Amino acid sequence: MSLRSCLLGSLLAMSVSFPAIADDTLTIYTSRKEEMIRPLLDDFTKKTGIKTQLLQDNSTDKLIARIESEGKDSPADVLMPADVITMQQAADKGLLKAIQSETLNKNIPAQLRDSEGRWYGLGKRARVIVYNKQKVKPEELSSYENLADPKWKGQLLVRSSSHPYNLALLCSMIEQYGAEKTENWAKALVANLARAPQGGDTDQIKAVAAGEASLALVNSYYYARLMNSPLPEEKEVAAKTGLFFPNQKPKTGELRGAHINISGAGVIASSDMSKEAQQFIEFLSQPEAQTFYAASNQEYPVNPAVAPSDTLKSFGTYKDEAVALGSLAKHAEEAVKIADRSGWK
Ligand code: FE
Repeated sequence: MSLRSCLLGSLLAMSVSFPAIADDTLTIYTSRKEEMIRPLLDDFTKKTGIKTQLLQDNSTDKLIARIESEGKDSPADVLMPADVITMQQAADKGLLKAIQSETLNKNIPAQLRDSEGRWYGLGKRARVIVYNKQKVKPEELSSYENLADPKWKGQLLVRSSSHPYNLALLCSMIEQYGAEKTENWAKALVANLARAPQGGDTDQIKAVAAGEASLALVNSYYYARLMNSPLPEEKEVAAKTGLFFPNQKPKTGELRGAHINISGAGVIASSDMSKEAQQFIEFLSQPEAQTFYAASNQEYPVNPAVAPSDTLKSFGTYKDEAVALGSLAKHAEEAVKIADRSGWK
């Protein structure tokens, strides 16, 4: 047993049970649910002979802290987070290796990957408005800015500001608007909340369907999942609500296009399997894997050659904001301060 596998065994035994780990196994730290990527991992192994194993934790922050504490002996070869802020933060800490790849540059638009090649988007999602069909007509909706209009007082739901999805939205606004205008928006938004933030995006949608509020700000795939749920009561939630892409016809002074975020991957800087790790990310960017990767979580494929799922197609086409996602995380500290000062819990 090498030092690496010995150390690996003892580290992993602390929190997850793992089979004996061989040095030739690609180790992936991810916040993505295993069932969403398991078939892809198996297919990758079948095609390349490279074995894989997952360490899953819903919190990317915890995965990053773990990689940091493991240092250069970390067993991690690939990090797969579900938002761009934590992805960029891992890069800024020096935990990700810059890779140059014609395949990745061809398959993934520049907006959805790090300019230095340290992380790559693999699935794309929009932050959308879900509305109660009985209370709101889609014609009354327009933009993120409009959600701060006093006419929506007591009618809006959104999860905690500390969640990376909302942090990314605030960061994107700071990037495009500056801090002052973003703070004014956040304060007015908080004044419209129907209740203090609680629960995740699905909880907001369910509360809107139940009539506890008229509108919720959520990621697109949560709504798509409810539409496709095997549970009749969840299907009913989707039937009672509608999805609206904000900022498609922006007025002067409004952001252009819907705010987007990504799930993605990067190669760990200390990996001794960086070639295989790169091969894995390239594999995930190819059309065949993209179709499954995106559809498994109802995300939009990042590869422009791949069509989205039928459910996403049913939402119609929409326009993304034209912001390089790599430009967001540098505003994260400021975004947290703005959220605090705005009383956005
Ligand atoms: Fe999510």
